Amino acid sequence: MTQNTDLNVPLFERAKAVIPGGVNSPVRAFRAVGGTPRFVQRAQGAYFWDANGQRFIDYIGSWGPMILGHGHPAVLEAVQKAALEGFSFGAPTEREVELAEEILSIVPSMDMVRLVSSGTEAGMSAIRLARGATGRSKIIKFEGCYHGHADALLVKAGSGLATFGNATSAGVPPEVVQHTLVLEYNNVQQLEEAFALHGKEVACLMIEPIAGNMNFVRASVEFTRRCRELCTQYGALLVYDEVMTGFRVALGGAQSVYAKAIPGFEPDITVMGKVIGGGMPLAAFGGKRAIMEHLAPLGGVYQAGTLSGNPVATACGLATLREIRKPGFYEALSASTRSLVQGLKAAADAEGVPFSVDSEGGMFGFFLMPELPQNYPQVMRTDGARFNQLFHGLLDRSVYIAPALYEAGFVSAAHTAADIEATVAAAREVFKSL
Ligand SMILES: *Cc1c(COP(=O)(O)O)cnc(C)c1O
Repeated sequence: MTQNTDLNVPLFERAKAVIPGGVNSPVRAFRAVGGTPRFVQRAQGAYFWDANGQRFIDYIGSWGPMILGHGHPAVLEAVQKAALEGFSFGAPTEREVELAEEILSIVPSMDMVRLVSSGTEAGMSAIRLARGATGRSKIIKFEGCYHGHADALLVKAGSGLATFGNATSAGVPPEVVQHTLVLEYNNVQQLEEAFALHGKEVACLMIEPIAGNMNFVRASVEFTRRCRELCTQYGALLVYDEVMTGFRVALGGAQSVYAKAIPGFEPDITVMGKVIGGGMPLAAFGGKRAIMEHLAPLGGVYQAGTLSGNPVATACGLATLREIRKPGFYEALSASTRSLVQGLKAAADAEGVPFSVDSEGGMFGFFLMPELPQNYPQVMRTDGARFNQLFHGLLDRSVYIAPALYEAGFVSAAHTAADIEATVAAAREVFKSL
């Protein structure tokens, strides 16, 4: 398609005149890969259609929420019915209770849950709760993990373990990040040193158990075990950010995956989003009763929201959770995701392209390097120029993957074997040209 006939181009021009960068969330702007973002007109199942009416196989699914695919009939029906009953009341509804009960019945580490509207809000609130419950200020996070854009979490590592982080965004004063310690993912020795130095002042350790914001990197079982043990030993809370992995890598989230390897394993607080809203603005954080009772109106940790527990969003989330609870759902989803990554790997191998893949449930990652990376610096060693060729090669062939190499991919229940075969065939053509 030439520039002149690509209808995404004038839309992007119009957007850039009125919205900074033309987008309402930076990665959508295609800055990393170059080119013009596709303006989505509509979506159904595993596909969306752009301004040109071109159909794409969608491996982003709104960055995770659309686990059933777009426009699932049961979800549509629930949302339409809820919308007719009212958009928002600012007073409690039975549906919020139902959704809370549904979530708690799936995630045994949580006794209580509070609903909010975005993952950012949930992560920020979880940190405040951890600080309020422990009476401590310091927090530990890991390089390459994203927990939303709350000020205290927009931090990269400082110069040493004794020093705290540096803000990664303008507008975040140094005082606001002075309590945030940033460590290397999967580095057990550094973790132990950090706790030895600061453990008694640490309110919480926050982690993406399977990191999806540096492509796809698993925490090792040993690292996970030490995170849990050190938090317990020093009286810090273990906060699992399962905004991406919750209901995505398994029904019970990443914590259920690690609990198989580490008997009795549980985080203290879990942060959720994405899938629980089924594509509507809904997120949550929860944990043990004694911790959650620190929240207002019971306790001294303030947290609130005009649209929290929104009746249309909760209808969407509930209908989604009820579908994914059906027997065999994750077995089928995992099998299609595995067939995709194995197909991609075989195609890359056949063309002599260094390639590694991993997946869990409906979430996957691939790297243009022979070994899977274990931390952020290793992820960043990926050949960006080659990734961009792969991205645009797939886009030209109507396959839409994340427009940046540090993002994970998502398969939905709507992706068929034929969709996956078509994707692998497209990738094989692109690998030939790399
Ligand atoms: C997406 C994401 C967030 C932020 O959620 P928003 O709804 O975009 O604010 C937080 N943590 C993780 C792990 C995420 O993937």
